[in-house]
Amino acid sequence: GSGRILVSACLLGREVRYDGRASGVGEEEGRRWLRRMQEEGRVVMVCPEVSGGLGVPRPPAELVGGDGEAFWRGEARVLTRDGQDVSAAFEKGAQVALELAQRHGVCAAVLKARSPSCGGAAVYDGSFQGRLVAGQGVSAALLRRAGIQVFNEEELDAARRFVAHLLGDAPR
Ligand code: SF4
Repeated sequence: GSGRILVSACLLGREVRYDGRASGVGEEEGRRWLRRMQEEGRVVMVCPEVSGGLGVPRPPAELVGGDGEAFWRGEARVLTRDGQDVSAAFEKGAQVALELAQRHGVCAAVLKARSPSCGGAAVYDGSFQGRLVAGQGVSAALLRRAGIQVFNEEELDAARRFVAHLLGDAPR
C-alpha cells in the first residue's frame, strides 16, 4: 500500500468548520504522528463540506431521518437548523473525498468525530439539541463502503498501528 491517509482538514489546523474554526487533536502523540505523516507527504487533506460547495462559516447542519448509511439509501437528508436542505452539497463533498482517496490510494482515513460528514461512529440526531446517536456521517459512510478504514481523532493510536501494519513496519 501507499501508506497514505485521508485526513479531515479541520484536524490539520484549517479553519474550515461551520463556525469558522479548526478542530484540535487532543493528544500530543497523535499530533506528532499526523505531523510526521504530513512531512512524509502521506496526508491527503479534505474538507468534504467545503468541497461540496458550502462556505465558511456556514449554518450548522445535522442528518435527519438516519445516519450516513441511511443517507446513501435515500432515507436521510442533511438539513440546517432552519430547515434548508444541504443534502446535495454533502453528497458532492463525499464524492470528492472518495475520488481523492482513490486517486491517492489511501488505505485509511482519520476523520473528525461526530460531524455529519466526517463522523465515524456517532452523529447528532437531527434535533439540534446536541443529542448523539450511533451512526456515521455522509462521507465516512461512503468511504467505508469503498473499503477504506475510518478512524477519528480519538483513535489515532489505532490508526497509526493500522497504517504501520499495512506497511509491514513496527508502529512508529
Ligand atoms: Fe472538518 Fe469534515 Fe466538517 Fe470539513 S466537513 S470542517 S473536514 S468535520
